[in-house]
Amino acid sequence: MTLTDSPIDTAIDTRTGTGATALHEQLVDEHSAHNYHPLPVVVAEGIGAWVTDVEGRHYLDCLAGYSALNFGHRHPELVAAAHRQLDRLTLTSRAFGNDQLGPFCAELAALVGKQRVLPMNTGAEAVESGLKVARKWGYEVKGVPEDRARIVVAAGGFHGRTISIVSFSTDPQARAGFGPFTPGFDVVPYGDLAALEAAITPETVAVLLEPVQGEAGVIVPPDGYLAGVREICDAERVLFVADEVQSGLGRTGHVLATRGAGTDADVYLLGKALGGGIVPLSAVVADDEVLGVLRPGQHGSTFGGNPLACAVGRAVVGLLCDDGPHGVLAAARRLGPVLREKLTALVGDGVVAVRTAGLWAGVDVDPHLGTGRDVCEALARRGVLAKDTHGSTIRLSPPLVVTEEEIGFAVDALARSLAELAGR
Ligand code: PLP
Repeated sequence: MTLTDSPIDTAIDTRTGTGATALHEQLVDEHSAHNYHPLPVVVAEGIGAWVTDVEGRHYLDCLAGYSALNFGHRHPELVAAAHRQLDRLTLTSRAFGNDQLGPFCAELAALVGKQRVLPMNTGAEAVESGLKVARKWGYEVKGVPEDRARIVVAAGGFHGRTISIVSFSTDPQARAGFGPFTPGFDVVPYGDLAALEAAITPETVAVLLEPVQGEAGVIVPPDGYLAGVREICDAERVLFVADEVQSGLGRTGHVLATRGAGTDADVYLLGKALGGGIVPLSAVVADDEVLGVLRPGQHGSTFGGNPLACAVGRAVVGLLCDDGPHGVLAAARRLGPVLREKLTALVGDGVVAVRTAGLWAGVDVDPHLGTGRDVCEALARRGVLAKDTHGSTIRLSPPLVVTEEEIGFAVDALARSLAELAGR
């Protein structure tokens, strides 16, 4: 079949306008792997906190790419940085140097307050890289016997989709059909310091957890939990590895949620918003003692540290360095309580519970009203995009450039959606 015979080509004129959503859904249904079940919205454009679909409808984006769009769609400073770099150089591989890699690593290390950065691409790659580095640290620095390293992780966590990562997932859907699994992980309940302490053996090299469990439904651990993890890790000579792929880079009103909780990890895993919603960019950030275990040939990625991603990452770091009243961190701290207050007012009115961390909320809706997906579909009809997680929980994580009025619009749409499902 030539391109001119293609049904895609003949349909080209109808890819926008009435009916275009169905056409795009059909193409995806017929030609893409069925590993997602998206809402019936096909987005064509985005600016700030808003997107427009192929039929011209506008939506407030309250998912923000699972927090990859913390700075909104097409933030002007990030787009300008990308354009500047696109016109100069996009890829070298790490066989050669490039003039963005060093500044990016130095600037991100300074932002995080650690000595070194290992740039990768996706969040899962940052996690995989963190696991590899922790194991190697265990053998070379802690003196764990070869091939015996163990890593303690938290039940209910989400860290990505690779074989090693799903090996310690407690979500049956994430694991079924993908074995055999990688050994060396011990799963403990999240928020339970006694269980964590009990799981640690002389062969434990790291504790890996999210400071706030995002995919689990914005589960905030009890006060003092993260500081307790720090104390246990110090006492047992174990690395505290904080997966801040979703919680980090502004979402909670802090560069790092762990620091916001008043403590510090040994290794930070960053991703999502690090690429400004423009390019995939992730990183492992740690001190010399940890990242120094990697030597040439032992780890890498063709695209890791590419100049385009580094240039955007530098602009992201620049935005996060601004902790003044007009910066994104201040916005998350100012608007988080607004979101919490408005959502809490719905408890008892279709909402069972609300949990928040900065501008990030997990909303448990009354399961009698319908599934989380039913609520998200009703929200989309009212011009708000959000995504369900775990049955009847909805996660709201609007871009940090959202306004107070827009938050009101989103929560009002939620109230109306719940009323519709309740038949009121
Ligand atoms: N870690 C956490 C905490 C995440 O929330 C995610 C993605 O949602 C990942 C890792 C995986 O990131 P990616 O989808 O970029 O591989």
